[in-house]
Amino acid sequence: MDKIISLCKRRGFVYPGSEIYGGFANSYTYGPYGAELKKNIKDLWWKIFVQSRRDMVGIDGGIMLHPRTWVASGHVEGFNDAMVDCKNCKARHRADHLIEGALNIEAEGLNEADLTKLIEENDVKCPKCGKKDFTAARYFNLMFTTQLSKTGDEDSTVYLRPETAQAIFLTYKNIVDSMRVKLPFGVAQIGKAFRNEITPGNFVFRLLEFEQMEIEYFIREEQWKGVFDDWLKSMHEWCELIGLHSEKCHEYEHPKEKLSHYSRRTVDIVYDFPFGRSELYGLAYRTDFDLRQHAEHSGKTLNYQDPITNERFVPHVVEPTFGVERSLLAILCDAYTEEILPDGDTRIVMKFAHHMAPVKIAVMPLMKKDGLDMIAEKIFDDLIIDYAVEYDDGGSIGKRYRRQDEIGTPYCVTVDYETKDDQAVTVRDRDSMEQVRVKIEELGEWLGQRL
Ligand code: ATP
Repeated sequence: MDKIISLCKRRGFVYPGSEIYGGFANSYTYGPYGAELKKNIKDLWWKIFVQSRRDMVGIDGGIMLHPRTWVASGHVEGFNDAMVDCKNCKARHRADHLIEGALNIEAEGLNEADLTKLIEENDVKCPKCGKKDFTAARYFNLMFTTQLSKTGDEDSTVYLRPETAQAIFLTYKNIVDSMRVKLPFGVAQIGKAFRNEITPGNFVFRLLEFEQMEIEYFIREEQWKGVFDDWLKSMHEWCELIGLHSEKCHEYEHPKEKLSHYSRRTVDIVYDFPFGRSELYGLAYRTDFDLRQHAEHSGKTLNYQDPITNERFVPHVVEPTFGVERSLLAILCDAYTEEILPDGDTRIVMKFAHHMAPVKIAVMPLMKKDGLDMIAEKIFDDLIIDYAVEYDDGGSIGKRYRRQDEIGTPYCVTVDYETKDDQAVTVRDRDSMEQVRVKIEELGEWLGQRL
């Protein structure tokens, strides 16, 4: 992870947040290439799951929703993590993670008393200072709150959404009334979510502020098993599409007794990160829980009326959910490659799938003079219409290749002195490092076939 984190900073993928103020814990800024990579992930997801499907529509809901949303969804009551503080070094730990790390047993979902007892009876030590002096476990809500400007005595607390899903349930009726959708259909959304995680960490794996790409897929209850299996398959296909090695992607079936309050079945897609196998995405059968809750709390009818039989009922929901930053992290980890070259040097290369690469082509004049720069600029101007292209004229060609390898650019196009005679350029392949001569007039088509 250290090597990947260092490359991300050195090459402009991910920077520590607010660095000039000494940093701001667990916040990050996506640099020019990280921002491109995130955009590629989100654009591809929207293209695959929304624009290419006749059974899907997309929305863009608010980060702040009516506060009663979170009472109905169960988040005000139940979206909690138990924490303990080390009285010696003041470090705060998630109680279940502390126990799991020390005793290698599952502790998620246990009550405060049981967690406290397990820590005390097993002499669990603080991973930071090594002392055994903890407070009792206490549950804290993971939702961030803020205040609306007060009007009278009403409670002015609003929540920053901890998941994007609820905006979809709140919009269900608008979609049914305005979009002529027929079951089964899905509503998708991409957007920020916020969680006051007690132990964020592992780079961008667990953040306070992150983006989700979520789908609520509305079905008839009897369809759920087939729909669930179809989505599981689609999620694996998505992992392959973004370039993840399938042998690193696995399924984790949540045991029945540990399911969230709204779920009848949950399967996570877990990925072999350098720090261990951890959740990448989730797939949950949420039943009709959310729509029923919102119907009850809002007093509105949230039915579906079958256009042929006129039967009315509350649809059930299968929810595939994808984290943008965990996708980014998995892609970075999967692409990171070190190769020993024949001369003994180590080459670092990010072997991104071509369509994920932040930069597709680098155009390089061998020298910034003798008209090579003008030819290179013309090639750049032509290619930029169709591709993310970078113009790179700084340093030796070897150094420029090395930089483009670390950015993961699939093709480097070099204009040299021969170009003036043969109207051709050298194209270097990122993975094989092979170099071929391609006529300038054929370059667009040559690259098009490969990208
Ligand atoms: P975990 O068990 O790791 O806390 P979760 O099961 O609570 O995750 P979900 O509520 O299912 O996560 O959220 C859906 C998706 O959002 C996750 O699969 C993950 O990709 C992403 N996600 C959740 N929490 C975070 C976070 N704190 N930072 C970054 N991404 C997150």
